[in-house]
Amino acid sequence: MLDTNVRRVLARAVTGVRYPPNATTAAERRLARTLLPEDERTAARWAAASMELGALVCTAKNESCPRCPIAAHCAWRLAGKPEHEGPPRRGQTYAGTDRQVRGKLLAVLREAHTPVPQARLDRVWHEPVQRARALDGLVADGLVEPLPGGLYRLPLT
Ligand code: SF4
Repeated sequence: MLDTNVRRVLARAVTGVRYPPNATTAAERRLARTLLPEDERTAARWAAASMELGALVCTAKNESCPRCPIAAHCAWRLAGKPEHEGPPRRGQTYAGTDRQVRGKLLAVLREAHTPVPQARLDRVWHEPVQRARALDGLVADGLVEPLPGGLYRLPLT
């Protein structure tokens, strides 16, 4: 699962640059594969954790290194945070994307202390096809666990 947040975290923490390339490259995919734990459950946790890190701590606008759990190993931070030297950044439209819907679904599950019924997830987005696609994608990526009775939760760690 190589979404924008994960690509940014890998670019900074491992490659040592501020931003990843505008479009995903073969080198990034290779790097992500070498870092992915072999065990399936651990790999799912790894994917969820790196997405969360990019969404909440190492964001595009503001990296929050003092509260980052991998700060001691981050290549970009250790190199003194060199400025971006690649081509200009493409403007990223976020509003209305599946990524936004996924983020909203994950936010509900993150805040819940018990499994969440489908109806509660349905309230996060008005468009049912896009909402279902986002939820299916999260389940397929191992980031959301469906339970009997139409309930959902984050995978247990
Ligand atoms: S130390 Fe800072 S730049 Fe590096 S991954 Fe963490 S938040 Fe991002």
